Amino acid sequence: MSSSREQSSQSPTPPSGDKGKSRARTTRLVHAGRDLSAHGFVNPPVYRGSTVLADSLSAYESGAMDYTYGLHQSPTFDALKNALLEIERGDVCVIVPSGLSAVTLPFLALLSAGDHVLISDGVYGPTRRFLARTMKRFGIAHTYFDPMADPNALEALIRPETRLLYLESPASYTMEVQDVPALVEFARKHGLFTAMDNTWSAGWFFDPFAVGVDVSIQAATKYQAGHSDVLIGAVLARGEAAERIAETHRDLGLSTGPDDVWLTLRGLRTLEVRLSRHQENALKVAEWLRGQEAVARVLHPALPDAPGHEVFQRDFSGSSGLFSIILKPVSEEALHAFVDGLELFGIGASWGGYESLILRFDPASPRLRTAHPWRETGPLLRLHIGLEDPDDLIADLDAGLRRLKEA
Ligand SMILES: *Cc1c(COP(=O)(O)O)cnc(C)c1O
Repeated sequence: MSSSREQSSQSPTPPSGDKGKSRARTTRLVHAGRDLSAHGFVNPPVYRGSTVLADSLSAYESGAMDYTYGLHQSPTFDALKNALLEIERGDVCVIVPSGLSAVTLPFLALLSAGDHVLISDGVYGPTRRFLARTMKRFGIAHTYFDPMADPNALEALIRPETRLLYLESPASYTMEVQDVPALVEFARKHGLFTAMDNTWSAGWFFDPFAVGVDVSIQAATKYQAGHSDVLIGAVLARGEAAERIAETHRDLGLSTGPDDVWLTLRGLRTLEVRLSRHQENALKVAEWLRGQEAVARVLHPALPDAPGHEVFQRDFSGSSGLFSIILKPVSEEALHAFVDGLELFGIGASWGGYESLILRFDPASPRLRTAHPWRETGPLLRLHIGLEDPDDLIADLDAGLRRLKEA
């Protein structure tokens, strides 16, 4: 079976080639997946289509055509896959309709009835729901572990039928940074696959394959698309996991509209500049929040208050725009006065677009956490810091904290 990368290399939009490998990632990201044979236009066209016509019956049956059907294959898909492979590498990249389908695909691809999953207690809420409902129905069991657990502590949780270790770092609400290299070592010792939801870093600030992770999950809806106008996901994988992911992706018939694929490719060209501004702005806002009386803790992986900060310093090359704060206990009325009156922070799900967002999460809820009790008493607010001027964001939050105090 040929991998997507091999399929891609037959296509008219080859990866940047050997010369490209020595260039900086930023350079490769700008040039990856561009087909300059398209009459000189800088960007590849949007190929839409189901049927791909062959020159002859023997050409169709030979298996030698670049493309035979539009479900998973087109120059538009290849352009995005090649660009994503420039960021994280991996043997295979598959494009799926949402971040959530990028989360669920590896479970479907790597597990069989009777298998067991060890999964971090810090994962994205809908990931838990998928395990609790659909995977359970197919006879697949799971056990949550404290995201900050030492791998030795996992020895007590592993079973003979455990097949997969599932990580998300940092945890997308509570921001624990996991010791992924140590966890991968544990997984390897026991012959487990390791999958990681790497959405927070966009694959840019953390390199999962360098530390031996088998599968990297990207909700490309977030930073890769980057403009809050697309739902899309990607799964990148290596080795045996890659073959299984590619196979199950085909079996499930997952596809994505070519406009969304193209918009994500367009977003990717500016990924590095956007991320570095998100990083800078978020650090400035987070530092300011640390000094505020109403704020009990700032959970930003790049700041010392966040669990796993030392691991973050060791393993990540930078931080994105998403972090959480824990307020000192306040009345509901005061909390609503703070959040509802914000002018620059939208109240809404998702993140990774150019704009700032705020939302409350309750990690004490069994919908979000079960293995490791949440002991904080004040409300947790998750902030996404957008590309606005950070001083304006700080002024908006400052006015909000004054409302909170007065309420
Ligand atoms: C948003 C998100 C997802 C799901 O992405 P959608 O495109 O919204 O389905 C998965 N994992 C994490 C960590 C996310 O933040």
